[in-house]
Amino acid sequence: MTRHAPLLLFLVLLALGPLLLPEFHVTLLNYIALYALVALGLVLLTGVAGLTSFGQAAFVGLGAYASAWLSTTTTPPAWLAFGAGSPWVGLALGLALTTGVAWVLGALTLRLSGHYLPLGTIAWGISLYFLFGNLSFLGGHTGITEIPSLHLAGLPIRDARSFYFLIWLVLLAAMLFTRNLLDSRAGRAIRALRGGTLMAEAMGVDTAHARMTAFLVAALFAAVSGWLYAHMQRFINPNPFSLNLGIEYLFMAVVGGAASVFGALLGAGLITLLKQWLQELLPALFGATGNLEIIVFGILMVLLLQRAPDGLWPLLARWRPAARPRAPEHAAPSTATVPPLPRRAVHAVGSDLLVLAQVSKRFGGLVANDGISFSVRAGEVMALIGPNGAGKSTLFNCISGTNPASAGEIRFLGQRIEHLDARRIARLGMSRTFQHVRLLPAMSVLENVALGAHLRGGRGVFAAGLRLERHEERQLLAEAAAQIERVGLAASMHEPAGSLALGQQRLVEIARALAADPCLLLLDEPAAGLRLREKQALAELLARLRSQAMGILLVEHDMDFVMGLADRIVVMDFGQKIAQGLPQDVQQDPAVLKAYLGGVGP
Ligand code: ADP
Ligand code: MG
Repeated sequence: MTRHAPLLLFLVLLALGPLLLPEFHVTLLNYIALYALVALGLVLLTGVAGLTSFGQAAFVGLGAYASAWLSTTTTPPAWLAFGAGSPWVGLALGLALTTGVAWVLGALTLRLSGHYLPLGTIAWGISLYFLFGNLSFLGGHTGITEIPSLHLAGLPIRDARSFYFLIWLVLLAAMLFTRNLLDSRAGRAIRALRGGTLMAEAMGVDTAHARMTAFLVAALFAAVSGWLYAHMQRFINPNPFSLNLGIEYLFMAVVGGAASVFGALLGAGLITLLKQWLQELLPALFGATGNLEIIVFGILMVLLLQRAPDGLWPLLARWRPAARPRAPEHAAPSTATVPPLPRRAVHAVGSDLLVLAQVSKRFGGLVANDGISFSVRAGEVMALIGPNGAGKSTLFNCISGTNPASAGEIRFLGQRIEHLDARRIARLGMSRTFQHVRLLPAMSVLENVALGAHLRGGRGVFAAGLRLERHEERQLLAEAAAQIERVGLAASMHEPAGSLALGQQRLVEIARALAADPCLLLLDEPAAGLRLREKQALAELLARLRSQAMGILLVEHDMDFVMGLADRIVVMDFGQKIAQGLPQDVQQDPAVLKAYLGGVGP
């Protein structure tokens, strides 16, 4: 059995379904697909980007009401008169309206962190629901009736069976779009949100844009679901767009497996069928009516989330036949077959890349960096050493824009950068690693490193969803693969980054930084956790980079490593620079010895 057999079987059953099933079941499948479309948006928004929304039902309502109103109104405004009665213009109106509303709501709420974001989505979810019920031209709580059915290429789409094909085609297209998106530069940016803003911004990802993208795509999927719903049902009122449904959509995504495209379908199917079944079974069992199913349903959900916190799809996917291992030469595009990405101009060896003048950083009363000045030149390894807590990582954060300096001047390639954000600085050609490794553990080594090349590509969401950016994507992956080989991790290219030993994860971070084609590399304790052989290989790699005119600023504790590699050394203690010079001079400096030995000795 091939890996794709289950998918093919599913598609065949899907195509045969309406021919074999009674109308009632076809309708049920239609609802499942409509719910799945909304849950799919939540897979992207919540499962992948980590942004929890309870408010998706409101976007379903926007899509439904916009088209329901336009296709039934007898008094359209003049500028919309051409579209009165047309569900297709109604669809366009719904999408435009949803984009506008989602953009405003996103701008207001997506910046909120922690529990404020879900609370924000609840707030606007409720507001929009009441808006639907209170606008008289939308029919108030009675809603809108006699909504026309659809015509596609002259064919009427009126009964459950014809809607079935339309709805499922839309859903499959949306699933394909989402899958393509996730497997692309734009998708990596969204997936990187899980790794924290600091890392993503340092790689040049516009995290605000990535959040908004996920939010808009999810809102538009919901609006399309609402549009289909309105014209299938042919009447609407505010009820299906309430907060209750918003919570249910989130349930579907989480139960199915919020990080996988098929999880949305599984969750929507399971919850819809379960509710249907409980609604029939429980009254028969207890002889009473009332919303008994909601109670049982709640208990089942709690149990399920305890047993399978990642949802059910990952459990199911385990049964899928494993992919055949690919021959290494086909595993990733290589620079031998794809034209390489353009490179940055190389700077003359010995020219100043980075110049710090009196850089200070205060955290409240604590002066973590106190008037630090030094420079890093092209083609040199500058080491920054000092005891723990000396302020080295803080200085890295000032230089790379991760946490800007409080005072002083930082010039990079002659340009003042102390007030630029991390993304702009990365674009200028500075790239860094983190002392506490910041990788996306579930993503492959190749994808993690490709994130480093983010700024060297430019294709966005639509190109990605429609697979129009394959050439650029191959270039980015080839670049990533080349950097992975460069740091000696070719054998682990397709492993999840989280499965590697810590020392190797540091090498992945170096490869990711190199994928940006920097002229200055900031490495925060790159050799920590490496074995002796790996340290030697790393030293060789850094020496090779130096010989190619790269500037390297290195924080490291291993003195043998530093002394053997560094051209110059800056020593810090308690936030101050206490010495600077050649390795052999620094080693004998009394102030340095005192800092390292704590002042004991003769
Ligand atoms: P090093 O990297 O040299 O070990 P750090 O730069 O991490 O040292 O820390 C220098 C000092 O600044 C320490 O006293 C640390 O507690 C403090 N510090 C670092 N980051 C922060 C922060 N975000 N808020 C407050 N204090 C901080
Ligand atoms: Mg540190």
